[in-house]
Amino acid sequence: AMNDAIIKEADSEIGDDIINQISSENIRLYLRDLSELPHLAGTPADYTQAKELVDFWSSVGLDETFLTPYDVLLSYPNNDDESQMNRLFVYDDNGQTVWQSDLREPILHPSENKSDVVPPFNAYSAPGDIRSAELIYVNYARAEDFYWLMHNKSIDVTGKIVLARYGKIFRGDKVAQAERYGARGIIIYSDPADYDDSDTSHVYPDDWWLPDSGVQRGTVFLGKGDPLTPGYPAIETAFRLNQSDPSIETPNIPVHPIGYGIAWNLFGYMTGDEVPSEWRGGLNRTYRFGGNLSVSGQSGTIRMRISTSNAVRRTYNAIGIIRGAYEPDRYIILGNHRDAWVFGAIDPSSGTAVMKEISRVMGNMVKSGKWRPRRSIIFCSWGSEEYGLIGSTEWIEQYIKSLAARSVGYLNVDISVQGNFSLRALATPLLYEAIYSATRRVPNPDPLESSNVKTVYDKWLSSFPNADSSKPRISSMGSGSDYASFIQQVGLPCLDVRYTYDNNKYKVSSYPLYHSKYETFYAVDNIIDRGFRFHTAVGQTWAEIARNLADSLIIPFNVMDYAIALESLVDQLFADYGPKMESNGIRFGKCTEKLNQFKVYCQSATPVAHGVVIRIACKQLPYAIREINDKLMNLERAFIDPSGLPGRPLARHVLFAESSVNTYAGSSFPGLVDGMFEIDEAPDKVQRWEKVKQHYSVILFTIQSASSTVKDST
Ligand code: GLU
Ligand code: CA
Ligand code: ZN
Ligand code: ZN
Repeated sequence: AMNDAIIKEADSEIGDDIINQISSENIRLYLRDLSELPHLAGTPADYTQAKELVDFWSSVGLDETFLTPYDVLLSYPNNDDESQMNRLFVYDDNGQTVWQSDLREPILHPSENKSDVVPPFNAYSAPGDIRSAELIYVNYARAEDFYWLMHNKSIDVTGKIVLARYGKIFRGDKVAQAERYGARGIIIYSDPADYDDSDTSHVYPDDWWLPDSGVQRGTVFLGKGDPLTPGYPAIETAFRLNQSDPSIETPNIPVHPIGYGIAWNLFGYMTGDEVPSEWRGGLNRTYRFGGNLSVSGQSGTIRMRISTSNAVRRTYNAIGIIRGAYEPDRYIILGNHRDAWVFGAIDPSSGTAVMKEISRVMGNMVKSGKWRPRRSIIFCSWGSEEYGLIGSTEWIEQYIKSLAARSVGYLNVDISVQGNFSLRALATPLLYEAIYSATRRVPNPDPLESSNVKTVYDKWLSSFPNADSSKPRISSMGSGSDYASFIQQVGLPCLDVRYTYDNNKYKVSSYPLYHSKYETFYAVDNIIDRGFRFHTAVGQTWAEIARNLADSLIIPFNVMDYAIALESLVDQLFADYGPKMESNGIRFGKCTEKLNQFKVYCQSATPVAHGVVIRIACKQLPYAIREINDKLMNLERAFIDPSGLPGRPLARHVLFAESSVNTYAGSSFPGLVDGMFEIDEAPDKVQRWEKVKQHYSVILFTIQSASSTVKDST
């Protein structure tokens, strides 16, 4: 009888049972509670919320719960001495202050009136008190913006303070570019064109648009995990780098964020030519490139007084486990970060509230004896994500051996609801099918939608179709949330889902209130998701994916999806670089050969599941199932190169990584693409092509390894 249970296909009605139990009212109450007070990483709230969560998990029936503390390098602004607090000033030629930035975001709704609201700052900014007679506007501070300034306007930012707008790329990449081009400091503001695409009359607390006083906080660290312990866990025995170690990817210049109300004033002192239309934002101002400041026709000075400093603090992950009935050593990991810049009612508590509800439903089913998943389900609440994916990365670094040997997949939800239009998903190919099948089971949460759009899948397909409109679009994963180290260090299949706004209708760079103090429960409850239907749909989707992965006899990975995805990556690589590679002595045909071989193995591996039937006769079924599942589980791992991508030891997946110019964006064959970036203009062109050839051979070997992984061993 035990054997029969082990080989029984999961009861998929359990999925509907879970879906039906997810309660929007519970999610609402959890969110109200989670976002009532600020819960910044490394502050007392980091611990109290983690502790409350493990207590909650114990009470709802999880088998095991614990905290994992890490001592990591965080960063904080001065928040008590107004004469030291981060501030920008403009002085006239007599040294009189004519303008200064706000120290804090004003209270716009009574619920924001709480202590411990961290003032606007960029984490890991260098401290500094600097002055310049010149201020240069650098648009989005992308490499191409600096390049354009240099080549078309002969503007060199060396030694100057630059003003950039938020949007398009990760802010840390803006700072890195500014530093690379020699800037002495960088101010980043939210332009209405990117964050308030409205008529500006309706902003928070009346609508979801960013008010002129709203400021986007955020890290400008480019690494992953604790800056002082790259690659290894920040536990008691850790060796820590010296904070001044030049390998630490934190900026060496001061950085400061401001809102558009205050930026409007700053633009008034700008001189120089008018910018082209693509550089113009939405302020009622003439946008100029800048140069010497002009204060009432005289010269002026801009000053950045930045007292942000780094500090080693303790941060906590909260972990809760439902032990699997038959394969307890196979893990389905659900994760969401817990730390917020301020109230975090959208980022990340909208995800935390949903995760709590899933764990309640699943925990109760286990407790009541109604269900126990085949494999283990691990709930993870990460600390210090906002500073650079720190909690998740340290945990991975601590447990990498067992995680790599036992994990099936990592399912991330950061923000669960940033709009009420459609689902949006990022994933690695093996998880596509699980997302599609879950979303087909979850009812469309939109009460205003026409009745033929029945499911989350239907809405998603009509909102974000893929290239041939056959399926909803799933984008590749860059970085920007806690899945990054799971892909890059472990090689786990990963996904990230959320509900989002219509980005064709709203041309914003993110949801407008992102990382501001105004991400409040009030905004979510009254504006973003009245009734919490969209939160519920994300919870149902997330839970159903987890149940499917945890319960299915054969792990529901479609290996052909990997072959198809790889084929399109190879086609794209050829289209972009094929002729160039060939003319430099790289035989592209070899890549096609390895790909074709992989396709053949994937094709024959797909019916392998049916091969199970044959083995029933041999009474070896549990082993046969385990054999198939191990292949499926290990396939993603095959794409990991333990040595890392060239120059990026902790980015180890040869097919996907974050783009080197934008952390948020995904890049395919990242080692090759980076290697060939502007290669023909490079003085060390010959050596660089050698490196490209070396990495190319690693890729060929890796695809071959993937083939061996899925190949039938008998
Ligand atoms: N999610 C955070 C942000 O976007 C951290 C991203 C990262 O460090 O990669 O600011
Ligand atoms: Ca570390
Ligand atoms: Zn987040
Ligand atoms: Zn965030």
